[in-house]
Amino acid sequence: MSGCHLCVHGHFYQPPRADPFTGIIPRELDAAPYANWNERITAECYAPIAEAGYFEHISFNMGGTLARWLEGYDARVYGRIVESERACYAAHGVGNGVAQPVHHTILPLARRRDKICQVRWGIASFEHRFGHAPEGMWLPEMAVDMETLEVLASEGIRFTILSDEQVRGNLDAGAGPYRVRLPSGADMAVFVRDRHLSNALSFTMPDPAFIDDWLRGQVDWRCRRGGLVLIATDGETFGHHHRQGIGVLGGILRSGAAHGYALTTLGRYMREHPPEMELEVVGDTAWSCAHRLSRWVVGCGCTSGDSRWKGALRRALDNLASNLDDAYEDETKKFGLDTWRLRDDYIAVLLGRMDQDAFLAEKGLAHLSSNERQRLLQLLEAQLFRQRMYTSCTFFFEDLDRYEPRYAIASAIRALALTLYATGVDLSAGFRRDLRVAVSERSGQTGASLFDALIK
Ligand SMILES: [Zn+2]
Repeated sequence: MSGCHLCVHGHFYQPPRADPFTGIIPRELDAAPYANWNERITAECYAPIAEAGYFEHISFNMGGTLARWLEGYDARVYGRIVESERACYAAHGVGNGVAQPVHHTILPLARRRDKICQVRWGIASFEHRFGHAPEGMWLPEMAVDMETLEVLASEGIRFTILSDEQVRGNLDAGAGPYRVRLPSGADMAVFVRDRHLSNALSFTMPDPAFIDDWLRGQVDWRCRRGGLVLIATDGETFGHHHRQGIGVLGGILRSGAAHGYALTTLGRYMREHPPEMELEVVGDTAWSCAHRLSRWVVGCGCTSGDSRWKGALRRALDNLASNLDDAYEDETKKFGLDTWRLRDDYIAVLLGRMDQDAFLAEKGLAHLSSNERQRLLQLLEAQLFRQRMYTSCTFFFEDLDRYEPRYAIASAIRALALTLYATGVDLSAGFRRDLRVAVSERSGQTGASLFDALIK
């Protein structure tokens, strides 16, 4: 192995902040002097990184909630990010953008057809923004299991990124990429981030004035081994979590010649260095919970206090999801349709690439009566909100009585309201009953009281 390459990958993401009923972001007082956190983080992070031209030199993924909002709020910054990716693609035949499952769902916890939906919707969203197919996909919270990797492979994704604690095997090839053999016989390339180096930026960002010292201490010795060094962290680390992060990022991007590395992106590097060594993936792991995904299932020591609400809320959502699916499936079966393919393809309408009439015509459904048409479209919309219920942020924090769980319950209410309009079946009583068991330790509110307040 000769020469050292370094890649900085940024995961740029914001949780949903808009009111699920109005689509408007309420004023967030703690984001002052900005109207909300999206605006503030744009000023601190996205805009300066875009204006400095750094998006061209890093590898990145941008979550759907952020991309959609940024496109409407600051077309200039959004345009620069998209142009950076397209320029990289034009220059190298492979872009520096990486796709993301569309609703930031913890995929190992989703059933297979929902994994497929999240991945297909993520790929379609990427193509819509960047004009070409993605080669890589970022997994929300790096949460991984074999079925998730199988789905990625069958959808044409060639690589993903994991953290070094999520893999087993010889890491002599640095960040890789490594080949992971899947039970079906397919394989997936995995880049392994350097956790300590990535955390050295996330938690102890240096002063940009001393970037040479920092690189000497942190990067030079890693580079002497050759191969690829991969820093992968939240993009907001640069500028938002740490004000001086923009300067540090610039320093890392500029200083390769003096410190013995060439900058690269993941797609380019994999083209020049296809995976040779193999690794095993430790399933049901994530980069932000050391307890086998418990953070998003039943709660764990990653968050303080009584986290039993997590299991109760998840159970309520799962029961509702199952009922919503039955209602949707019953309707689509009447027309002899491939139920889940229809939902996957509906992303074309959600992205505005096609109107509803054209979509139905393409599916051979132009003949539907106006009642049938309306029912089917309402049930497809219900499936969108049912997907949104599972945004990982719902379960990430310590308490039930917060914006994120409320967002999940509100999305559930929209899904069950659409199902009620379409079919006359009211699923709210069962859902509300399940929610009673989810209790906020801090405020004493239950999922049912949050539900009642939202219904009002
Ligand atoms: Zn944990």
